[in-house]
Amino acid sequence: MADNLPAQAEIVIVGGGIIGCSLAYHLTKLGRRDVLVLEQGRVTSGTTWHAAGLVGQMRPTRTMTRMSRYGIELYRTLEAETGQATGWKACGSVNVASTPERVVELKRTVARARSFGVEIELISPAEAGRLWPLMRTDDLLAAVWLPGDGKANPADLTQALAKGARAGGARICEGVRVTGFAHKNGRAVGLETTAGNIACEAVALCAGQWSRDLGRKAGVTVPLHSAEHFYIVTKRIPDVTPDLPVMRDPDGFIYYKEEVGGLLMGGFEPVAKPWGMGGIPEGFEFQLLPEDWDQFEPLMRAAIHRTPCLETAEVRQLLNGPESFTPDGNFILGEAPDCRGLFVAAGFNSAGIANAGGAGRLLAEWIVGGEPSVDLWDVDIRRFAGFHGNRAHLRERTVETLGLHYAMRWPRYELKSVRPLRRSPLYDRLEAKGARFGARMGWERANYFAPGAGEIPYSYGRPAWLPYCLDEQRAAREHVAIFDQTSFAKLLFQGRDALAVLQRLCANDLDVAAGRMVYTAMLNARAGFESDLTVIRVGDTAFLLITGTAQATRDRDWILRHVGDAVAILTDVTSAWSVLSLMGPQAPALLARVSPDDLTESALSPGATAEIDLGFARVRAARMSYVGGPGFELYVPTEFVASVYDALADAGPELGLKDAGYYAIDALRIEAGRRAFGAELGPDETPLEAGLMYAVKPDKGIDFIGRDALLRQQERGPAKRLGLFALDDPAAFPWGGEGILRDGKPVGEITSAGYSAKLGRAVVMGYVRGDGPVDRDFLLGGHYVVDIAGNQIPATPLAKPPFPG
Ligand SMILES: Cc1cc2nc3c(=O)[nH]c(=O)nc-3n(C[C@H](O)[C@H](O)[C@H](O)COP(=O)(O)OP(=O)(O)OC[C@H]3O[C@@H](n4cnc5c(N)ncnc54)[C@H](O)[C@@H]3O)c2cc1C
Repeated sequence: MADNLPAQAEIVIVGGGIIGCSLAYHLTKLGRRDVLVLEQGRVTSGTTWHAAGLVGQMRPTRTMTRMSRYGIELYRTLEAETGQATGWKACGSVNVASTPERVVELKRTVARARSFGVEIELISPAEAGRLWPLMRTDDLLAAVWLPGDGKANPADLTQALAKGARAGGARICEGVRVTGFAHKNGRAVGLETTAGNIACEAVALCAGQWSRDLGRKAGVTVPLHSAEHFYIVTKRIPDVTPDLPVMRDPDGFIYYKEEVGGLLMGGFEPVAKPWGMGGIPEGFEFQLLPEDWDQFEPLMRAAIHRTPCLETAEVRQLLNGPESFTPDGNFILGEAPDCRGLFVAAGFNSAGIANAGGAGRLLAEWIVGGEPSVDLWDVDIRRFAGFHGNRAHLRERTVETLGLHYAMRWPRYELKSVRPLRRSPLYDRLEAKGARFGARMGWERANYFAPGAGEIPYSYGRPAWLPYCLDEQRAAREHVAIFDQTSFAKLLFQGRDALAVLQRLCANDLDVAAGRMVYTAMLNARAGFESDLTVIRVGDTAFLLITGTAQATRDRDWILRHVGDAVAILTDVTSAWSVLSLMGPQAPALLARVSPDDLTESALSPGATAEIDLGFARVRAARMSYVGGPGFELYVPTEFVASVYDALADAGPELGLKDAGYYAIDALRIEAGRRAFGAELGPDETPLEAGLMYAVKPDKGIDFIGRDALLRQQERGPAKRLGLFALDDPAAFPWGGEGILRDGKPVGEITSAGYSAKLGRAVVMGYVRGDGPVDRDFLLGGHYVVDIAGNQIPATPLAKPPFPG
């Protein structure tokens, strides 16, 4: 064990839970032999050994679902491969609904599952009762049956992965604690342990709830927090057989599985109980927390209602074990942006057993290949920033995120905790005008403006905020609307070699005159979007990069990892600049009222920027519009923005100026055919597929990243293409994620949906996949429908965006 600790290894994995063992297993499958797992206790001794072992397939996105389905395939075959039992049983799962909203949610899940190729069936309460006879069904409205779901024994499964890893050449050392890290030139090059130092080329932090504090020792933010997490196990109950499916009753926040002839019942209470505020106590591995029946009471009450047999069943144990939760409920995967060679897989939000197979494989591919092999944005560590590591923030958020598991997945759902956090200087002004805010990367942003106070309730149908949003859209199309877009991430890139670096990173040509603004993609070697952004050349050797609110860490990381020996410095200047967008036909007239500068199109052409007087301030004005039509973006030093906004607001009423929010931006940009990162654009989509070749300059004379792959794809034709559709039924209200069927066959999902004030119906975007290359004729031909919770709504493919029309 510790005596055999080598002085060096190629890849060292910290943590012998299911994630660390899965990573080791997959690294050896990729041919890596010099893999060392260090575990402070014994394999499985963290959270893994006391997990319930439910393994479901469905995840919110296509990639994540593919990942969990891979895990199931692995768990099915692992015992045969390694000779170690895993307890895997494909018992299927039944999810029940007792409220009308939950029925809609189930129907939406069915549509999405079919689109992802997952076997699923909407069943009646009576059928659910036949599959799960102990359950009360008189108050149920519907259920779904997923025959491919299952359960496993987490400790055995982990031992099987460990055995497979050892067979592939990995070494696992137990009883060795990692206490620190060695760095050189921003890279992790070794570890300090209780048994001596180890040199290595890469480190993977798979240390479960210990990962946050351990990450801190390496200068890396791993935002997770522990919460107490419970289930009971009963003694034997008649009629409970090993084949009993897993059952979930999300309206009661509870789940069940068979366990040694009895029931294991646990859940996700809406108000959770954080744990470990002062750090994880020394020597905690292999320990549990004291029972807390008060905290468990809402779950127990719901369970006695759903399964009356629990009233008299003998409870063997109320298990209380801590698990780690993240600020958005998704796990954390990838190479840390602040430390090369240090990888993280942690924060599994009580789904680490189900996700271990896929996460282990994807991180192994990332370590070996140097980049993620597919779009992992939902779980990518770079979706967080340093502030997410604040412990008070994490503690408060965890109270909310544990319950997200079974909470209604309302479209455009906003979390409530740790808000308001990042605020534009205009926050109070906008709030006073009725702004209803949503949060992105901690920023409060107006979604829409409505009279009165209080929240407008969520819904799956036409939302009550729609009339306000349509008014804002009309203002932007017919008069002028003002949007506070201060949350944009802004990066200043400057230095002798700044242009050369950007020319290699960007698909468009950035060698433009100072003052010009260029919309461009940054592509990966597969020609997929790492980012889409606008770049203003502010001087010969200086560029201001304006990118998505959520992309600050990601884009910074992507650029810095490609700077190499070049002379260029990147500074995050997000807090230094506010952004106001003035959009609509009256925007030029409004600016003319507050600025003496010539802003006519001959003086400031599309894509040009200029420093102008505005009120008593100096701002940079760009003639540019993301929402379509005439418009300006105003870049204002943060401390001046309140005065600039007041000057515009004073001059605006006669011109029909209206405050507008992000829901309007979204609907307007879809109507104008503009794409968004994280929706239409991501690492798995190319400019050819996304219809953005106009922003690519293959002939600019520089071999930019992704160019070759893009040209190859152009030759053979893309396997999918982005379509724009208008739904034929004006009453239909899609939200995104709904399946698209072409001639009756699932071909993709809606990536973005908006309700167009101009057309009086929903306009949506989504990729259409084909068996062979998908050209424009294929895209625009065919008969399309969109599946909204089981309703097949005919959709018309649009050859061009409805706006300007
Ligand atoms: C009550 C409960 C029920 C659950 N039910 C399910 C379920 O049904 N389905 C599901 O998918 N998930 C479930 N989970 C979640 C699942 O258990 C976890 O997500 C998963 O076990 C996390 O695995 P891990 O490898 O990341 O962490 P861990 O299992 O905690 O492993 C991390 C390891 O790192 C070691 N370590 C930490 N620091 C160091 C150090 N400095 N040096 C060396 N070693 C170190 C620890 O000792 C530990 O063994 C449940 C969790 C709980 C608490």
